Amino acid sequence: MSTTKTPLLGLTLDELKAVVAEEGLPAFAARQLAGWIYGKGVGDISSMSNISIAGRKRLAEHHDVGLMTPLLRQLSADGTAKYLFPTHGGGRVETVFIPDGERGTVCVSSQVGCRMGCAFCATGQQGFQGHLTTADILNQVYSLPERERLTNIVFMGQGEPLDNLDAVLKATQILTADYGWAWSPKRITVSTVGLRKGLKRFLDESPCHLAISMHNPFGTERAAMMPAERSFALTEMLQILRRYDWTGQRRLSFEYICFGGQTDTDRHAREMVRLLGGLECRVNLIRWHQIKADATERCLPGMMTPADMTPSDEKRMADFRDYLNAHGVRCTIRASRGQDIDAACGLLRTKYQS
Ligand code: SF4
Repeated sequence: MSTTKTPLLGLTLDELKAVVAEEGLPAFAARQLAGWIYGKGVGDISSMSNISIAGRKRLAEHHDVGLMTPLLRQLSADGTAKYLFPTHGGGRVETVFIPDGERGTVCVSSQVGCRMGCAFCATGQQGFQGHLTTADILNQVYSLPERERLTNIVFMGQGEPLDNLDAVLKATQILTADYGWAWSPKRITVSTVGLRKGLKRFLDESPCHLAISMHNPFGTERAAMMPAERSFALTEMLQILRRYDWTGQRRLSFEYICFGGQTDTDRHAREMVRLLGGLECRVNLIRWHQIKADATERCLPGMMTPADMTPSDEKRMADFRDYLNAHGVRCTIRASRGQDIDAACGLLRTKYQS
C-alpha cells in the first residue's frame, strides 16, 4: 500500500511548519495539523475543519496523513491481539496488543526483520529487510484498533531499536511532545541487545525506560546465542549503564529468557547477582516458546541454533527468581501471553508471505 504522497505522520512540529510554509498556509496551521494527527488520530486531511478548505486542498495535493490499517489480525484466547501492518516502503511488520486489566500495552516493531541474528528469535532467523520510518513506527500506535486502551508502549517487537535510532528517537519525541500525544516517557520502554554507539546516544538523549536483552550473564555463552555480544560485551555495557542515574524517573530492566540447563542454573543465578549487585534495576524472566530451526545457515560459526535450546520448567524459573530476590536483585517472571497465536515475533509475517 505504498503511496506517492508524502505522509505527514512522523513529522515533528518543525517539519510540519516547513510543510505548511511550502504549501502557503499560515505558520499556526502546523500546530493545528499536529493536533489533528497526533492528538486526535485523524487520518484524513479533508476532516481537519479548523484549517481553511483551500489550505486542506493544497496540503492534500502532495501529502496524506499516512495511517494504514492492519492487513491481518490474530486474536488469542487471553485477549492478546497480533497485527500485521503494511509499511510505507511496501514491507510488513508485526505489532502486538496485550491487555492486562486496566493496562493495555502495545509492542511495536522498529525494523522489517533484524540483523542481530539472535539464535532463539524467529525474526533474527529471517534476516534483515529494512528500517522502518518514523511514520511506520507511529502507524503501529495510531492505527492500532485498541489505541484508546493503551497505557504503555514497548519497543520489543521485530528489529533492534538502537540499529534504527534516528527513527525511534523521533517517534518517542513525537509521542511525548506537547504538540504530539503528550505521553509521559515513563510509559515508553525501548529494548535493546546493546549496540555501543546507539546505547550511549539513547542514554544521553532519551528520557524513556531502557530494557536490556541480557539472556545470559556469561560473555562466551551469551555470544553463542547473541552475536551482538561479540562487538559489545555485556560487561562493558554494564560499566556504561552504571555511570547513569537509575534512581529517578527512568527505569532500567534486564530481559532474561530462561533456557533449561543453559541459562537457568545456579551458576547463572550467582553470576547475575554478581553482575547486577548494587545497580538500581529489575530482571524480567521470560518463558521461551520453541521456534523452528529452519534457517540455521544464517548462524555464525559457534552459534547455537533453536534446536539446541529448550524452555525452562516453571519450578526452575521460580527458584531462579527467588534466588535473585533473596540476594538483592529485584526479579519477576513475566506472564506468558498469546501462546495460541504464534507468540514468537516474525511468525505472522512468515504466514502472510506464504
Ligand atoms: S531478539 Fe530482537 S535483536 Fe535479537 S534477532 Fe530478535 S528482533 Fe533482533
